[in-house]
Amino acid sequence: MRCKICRARAVAEVPQHHMALCRDCYLEWFPRYTQKTIDKFRMMSREERVLVAVSGGKDSQTLWRVLVELGYAADGVVIDLGIGDDGGAAPPGEGYSAESVACVRRLARRLERPLWVIDLREAMGRTVPEVRRGRRPVCSACGVVKRYVMNRVAYEGGYDVIATGHNLDDEAAALFGNVLSWDTYYLSRQGPVSPQRGERLMRKVKPFCYFTERETAMYALLSGTPYYHEECPNAVGATTISYKELLNRLEVTARGSKRRFLDGFLRQRALFRQAAEEMPLAYCERCGMPSPVQLCGFCRMVGDAPLTRPGALGALRPEGAPAPRVPQTDPAPSGAPA
Ligand code: AMP
Ligand code: ZN
Repeated sequence: MRCKICRARAVAEVPQHHMALCRDCYLEWFPRYTQKTIDKFRMMSREERVLVAVSGGKDSQTLWRVLVELGYAADGVVIDLGIGDDGGAAPPGEGYSAESVACVRRLARRLERPLWVIDLREAMGRTVPEVRRGRRPVCSACGVVKRYVMNRVAYEGGYDVIATGHNLDDEAAALFGNVLSWDTYYLSRQGPVSPQRGERLMRKVKPFCYFTERETAMYALLSGTPYYHEECPNAVGATTISYKELLNRLEVTARGSKRRFLDGFLRQRALFRQAAEEMPLAYCERCGMPSPVQLCGFCRMVGDAPLTRPGALGALRPEGAPAPRVPQTDPAPSGAPA
């Protein structure tokens, strides 16, 4: 197999674009295609401050690196979820979350960029496995916590936009799940860009939404980007994994299905917009962050904790940051737009 661009020996197949590339051409193509996706959806500009949510996995590690190389002022945030430490019984530094965080720190040092490390033990007084309540699956609690903390750090840290490492497989699987239950509110919110709402619900972008999981893994491998290889132990058996398997099977017989599914939806998204507009923008009476009801999902879940107090991040600095620049969150009057 020959590289489509330079005819050297190809090492990476890119079936969705009907091509194979050599190492050098792949390492050039991947960031260029990332930029094209950013431009297509008008995700962000180089004048803006970007906060990359970095989990230590291949997608977000690669994303941080590529954005920095493309010239974006991108800092990182990693949330230590406390998963896999067996309630503190595991040796320090071992377990899923501890090892993921170590991997993100390694990349931060290499990129020489500031990194916010939010340890949930300090921020909310307990870990994700410890907030698990009743019959709610731990993954849904984890999702609430991650979205909340990312948004909070972006807001209090003075960032313009949050970038996450979601790839085409993630997006197609999430879309499949939302269509399966015809969840019009989630459908209205889903997409490569979630615009800022009010002053406190920050814009979120997914610059890798057109790359398959294999394509980001290939870039990580060829570029020597460090990442943590383990899957989250809680993800075993998760429904999104079965949706991904289903879509992968479909991709074998109908190549390009995932991309068509996502693009087709994006063309029709206006149909669902009303559901988003109907959701009132109000603020949590405890922490001051956006919430359609009196207490936000995060505050309801964790009760009183350091991070539920307005301005809690004021004392914290990102590691490797030159100067503090953290504004305080004032409690917003509930119901009133900021
Ligand atoms: P997941 O929700 O695990 O599918 O991850 C989706 C995206 O959320 C990742 O690509 C990251 O951008 C972000 N993310 C996931 N886990 C973390 C974490 N522990 N800390 C910071 N960002 C995360
Ligand atoms: Zn709250």
